Amino acid sequence: MNEFELIRTYFTRRTPARSDVRLGVGDDAAWLAPPPGQELAVTTDMLVSGVHFLPDADPEALGHKALAVNLSDLAAMGAQPAWFLLNLALPAPDENWLAGFSAGMYALAERYGVQLVGGDTARAPQTVIAIEAHGFVPPGQALTRAGARPGDRIFVSGPLGDAGLALRQRLGQLKLTATELAAAAERLDRPQPQVEMGLALRGIASAAIDISDGLVADLGHLLEQSAVGARIELARVPLSVIYRAHFKKLRWDVALANGDDYELCFTVPPAQLAALESLKPRFPGIAEIGTIVAGGGLRIVDAHGKRYTPKTTGHDHFAE
Ligand code: ADP
Ligand code: MG
Repeated sequence: MNEFELIRTYFTRRTPARSDVRLGVGDDAAWLAPPPGQELAVTTDMLVSGVHFLPDADPEALGHKALAVNLSDLAAMGAQPAWFLLNLALPAPDENWLAGFSAGMYALAERYGVQLVGGDTARAPQTVIAIEAHGFVPPGQALTRAGARPGDRIFVSGPLGDAGLALRQRLGQLKLTATELAAAAERLDRPQPQVEMGLALRGIASAAIDISDGLVADLGHLLEQSAVGARIELARVPLSVIYRAHFKKLRWDVALANGDDYELCFTVPPAQLAALESLKPRFPGIAEIGTIVAGGGLRIVDAHGKRYTPKTTGHDHFAE
């Protein structure tokens, strides 16, 4: 199959047809009509074979994850996802792979009503998947990393570390039961972007970030951009039942530094705590884990108030 057949077969049909797309896939560029008065949040994220996934990874899960990590970035901005583009570099036009990949991607696209409006396709020595996603934000209402102030409380949207359990099992460092592995692998391979929560946090959160590289690293970025410090109480960091069953082996490090969970970490000023409380029935996973302080970086303390220093701090592609 040639390049154009490939695009026509796998990437022209099936995403929701939105009324704000004047032209999608097929012309020299997409032609889009954002709703009047809305601002755009734009993001891109790349998955590289051999770096982010193994060459034999399930293509359907990859299709899901490639879009999910971008929707997660939009969620962390409080943006309503609308459109995305797909750049695909492939060693060969493997139809089984393409069918699985596009099915995983479209299933998630349909869930959020986002339309694939363009992209680029090329042959390359290894698979690279890069998606760019666009979402809408009302003027001035984007959630950024820079708005946290001393006295704000720090929250996460759900339990941390489960994606790391699956990764450790695959590396032969952990012995999960089959049921535990299935649940953990779901978190690693099919992360669920917190789109609804991101939208609900507009006007409530002072700052937000999605946890892709681990809480310590990502909260660290938020602190840096807000020019503040934080105190995190370990005992309040939410862990799943599976994580707790293996806690002796894992300690806190996987929950704090593994990442790949795509939960949100956000801060809420005291004046908005009641509004946040009213969201909890909809988002029962929300957990308060600490407080923003004036300076001094990130301080993690255990149940006895003793300082805890994580062994690793998160993923860095260019770390020596
Ligand atoms: P051009 O040469 O003008 O860049 P292409 O031949 O690369 O055009 O692409 C033709 C059309 O197909 C364009 O609308 C482009 O956005 C779309 N397209 C190419 N690759 C993909 C892809 N992987 N997914 C979605 N759309 C794609
Ligand atoms: Mg092109």
